[in-house]
Amino acid sequence: MKILVINCGSSSLKYQLFDMDNEEVMAKGLVERIGIEGSRLEQEVGDAEWAQETAIPDHNKAVQLVFAALTDAEHGVISDMNEIDAVGHRVVHGGEKFTDSILIDDAVIAAIEQYIPFSPLHNPANLQGIKAAQEALPGKPNVAVFDTSFHQSMPAENYMYALPYELYKEHGIRRYGFHGTSHHFVTLRAAELMDIPVDQLNIISCHLGNGSSVTAVKNGKSYITSMGQTPLAGVPMGTRCGDIDPAIVTFLQNQLGKSAKEVDTIMNKESGVAGISGVSSDFRDLENASKDGNERAQLALDMFHARVRETVAGYAADLGHVDAITFTGGIGENGAGDRSAICKGLEIMGVKLDESINGQRKPKEKKISAEDSAIQVWVIPTNEELMIARDTMRLAK
Ligand code: ADP
Repeated sequence: MKILVINCGSSSLKYQLFDMDNEEVMAKGLVERIGIEGSRLEQEVGDAEWAQETAIPDHNKAVQLVFAALTDAEHGVISDMNEIDAVGHRVVHGGEKFTDSILIDDAVIAAIEQYIPFSPLHNPANLQGIKAAQEALPGKPNVAVFDTSFHQSMPAENYMYALPYELYKEHGIRRYGFHGTSHHFVTLRAAELMDIPVDQLNIISCHLGNGSSVTAVKNGKSYITSMGQTPLAGVPMGTRCGDIDPAIVTFLQNQLGKSAKEVDTIMNKESGVAGISGVSSDFRDLENASKDGNERAQLALDMFHARVRETVAGYAADLGHVDAITFTGGIGENGAGDRSAICKGLEIMGVKLDESINGQRKPKEKKISAEDSAIQVWVIPTNEELMIARDTMRLAK
């Protein structure tokens, strides 16, 4: 079975074609700058890379180009689009309706539309990808895999905000959580690696990348997570502020005369470690700047580590028993210094890293805790695309 996984952002589209007989990636690629000047498609097949610059006005054209690239006589990997058996789509917000991935029909599309106000940048792009795939491959199953669905197992005390109850009942205002596909993948992999049945596994999963979230997983299910109604909440991120005193929002509007849109831009695009450091949203740049004596870069790193650490410690108390703390995402997988800084202070819970293993670049997937650590600590590279492909195969069959 061949499955195409599509992840549409507002101006980009990432894709991977899987041969699910052996879960092998046949081709993967990226369409960038959709609707803006300089749009291009890049495709990788094994070590071979191929790039094409051409006008790509919208997601429809982007999807057509992906199919053309996959079937290209010279650079492609299949001879006909119909070799693709199903398409899996990453969808950011599935609200309370979707506790699992689902085969897409008109009702599913309507529900994804309904949640646009909660995810105004992502859900419309995800829908465009779905519609383009339906048009390009009529009759083939399309599956939606939601960032939110893994977190639908959270109990009410963990997803409710202490706002008037009617706001939840009438408008669905609550914590939803994101990165669910990644936290779920890591949970399943941790169960395998630690040889614990997944329904008995308790972990604290730290997905740390451009966007970061921490999830407490109880008996294999999401119990609480740091992101909220939107992916702006929780720990500070590359350019997102994470949790702040909510009164700051009205202060910016009433005292500084900012519009709602300006406040939104400040909190989503101008904050986080980039806003604090004034250097970059990239943790490698921050580390370099800090080594050169940039105090604001070091402050940004310290703030990030402290907020992740306190989230992990708080979630440990919520779980009672913790089998492992896991790290994934660009920072979680590569930032040995970040892992070390986060775990410093968690000695109070008996956490102890083996720094010689933590510092090794390879293998990426590894246990980094010391043998006498009370809680195991693992680095588990995430694979959201494979998770989407697996769900798509399960539902399309
Ligand atoms: P996204 O959330 O967009 O999927 P990633 O998970 O790819 O992002 O994470 C990207 C981030 O990972 C980069 O911004 C960078 O800060 C961080 N990163 C990558 N390599 C390293 C490294 N060696 N050390 C620390 N951070 C790293």
